[in-house]
Amino acid sequence: MLSVKKSKANQLRELEAECHACRECLIGGQRLDGCLSNVFSNMCIKAQVMVVGQNPGEIEVKLGRPFVGKSGAFFDEVLAGVLDIDRSVLYIANTVRCYTPGNRAPIASEVKSCRVFLDREISILQPELIVTLGNPALKQVTGLSGIIKHHGTLVISPRYGIQVLPLYHPSPLNMNKPQMKHAFRQDIGILAKFV
Ligand code: URA
Repeated sequence: MLSVKKSKANQLRELEAECHACRECLIGGQRLDGCLSNVFSNMCIKAQVMVVGQNPGEIEVKLGRPFVGKSGAFFDEVLAGVLDIDRSVLYIANTVRCYTPGNRAPIASEVKSCRVFLDREISILQPELIVTLGNPALKQVTGLSGIIKHHGTLVISPRYGIQVLPLYHPSPLNMNKPQMKHAFRQDIGILAKFV
């Protein structure tokens, strides 16, 4: 039988459909004001850099895309101000793909059952660099704990064999702290070599 190689775009579209249909853990398939809480990625297939956040919030669920709320707005501002780029050159996804009740931090079982999406995205996209935002993403991609220690230092992910740049999460909670905000702006400058 003739085997037809699927394009990256088709592979990602299939994965997106699987993500939307995922009910592996209790938060999969929940609805928030009628909107499905499963949010996949921004689908930028040409990106060389993949960004991995924590999990979608209410605005992301309403709009069906990651990082389009307050954290995303700050992230956009820093991309423009420090690197003179916009998010269209980045592939953006999350550690956990669903909204968590009350926007609590994801629990270990949710992170574990969601790993399949990141594994498959990385194998489809083969990014040059993965940027992790916050502790859950750092842990999931590198196995390391402690963003305070690791932020701004490039490491190789043992699981994926790809360079990783750990950054603080750009949430208002973190970015209202001047030291963290300053570190975030400084660390993101390392991205200049990759975009
Ligand atoms: N929105 C996301 O999509 N991810 C986060 O980690 C935070 C907000």
